[in-house]
Amino acid sequence: MELQVVIEEGVKEFNLKDFRGFILTVFPFIREIQTTHGIILCKQCWIAKRNQYNAECLLDYVLRLKDNNIVAFFISQDTYIRDLNYVFGIGASNIGAVISTYRFKNDISNFQKVVLHELGHIFGLDHCLPPCPMASSNNILDLYPLNGSYCQSCQKELRAFEFK
Ligand SMILES: [Zn+2]
Ligand SMILES: [Zn+2]
Repeated sequence: MELQVVIEEGVKEFNLKDFRGFILTVFPFIREIQTTHGIILCKQCWIAKRNQYNAECLLDYVLRLKDNNIVAFFISQDTYIRDLNYVFGIGASNIGAVISTYRFKNDISNFQKVVLHELGHIFGLDHCLPPCPMASSNNILDLYPLNGSYCQSCQKELRAFEFK
């Protein structure tokens, strides 16, 4: 399987430091990562009255840009969906994810948990309980107690995904 990583122009280098190795280690069924840099966010997804981007709109947008692969879209701007004040990202099974670095200026550890969470959704994982990173988190404080790797049960489900 190939993962297409699309990076918006505002995303800072440090957020994606060692990112490639991290993904390849956690998801051994990803054989290749193809990276596209410097993408500009779609203006139609900007919601002025909220000062935020709509994450579902951005996911639709990146799906139109991608090839036939699963896609992870990294953006630097704040996002929300529906009635939530903000989201760290969204992930859709077998399709792709939008992941925002906005609330993780120097916080690689918590950001990686969000990456695990949203990529987990792509590969079929549902929400789990803390301290598994598949636990749902609505704010940064929820992220601190989470582990940097999946629980046994989520790991087992991921292995099942490998053989689909
Ligand atoms: Zn989730
Ligand atoms: Zn879990």
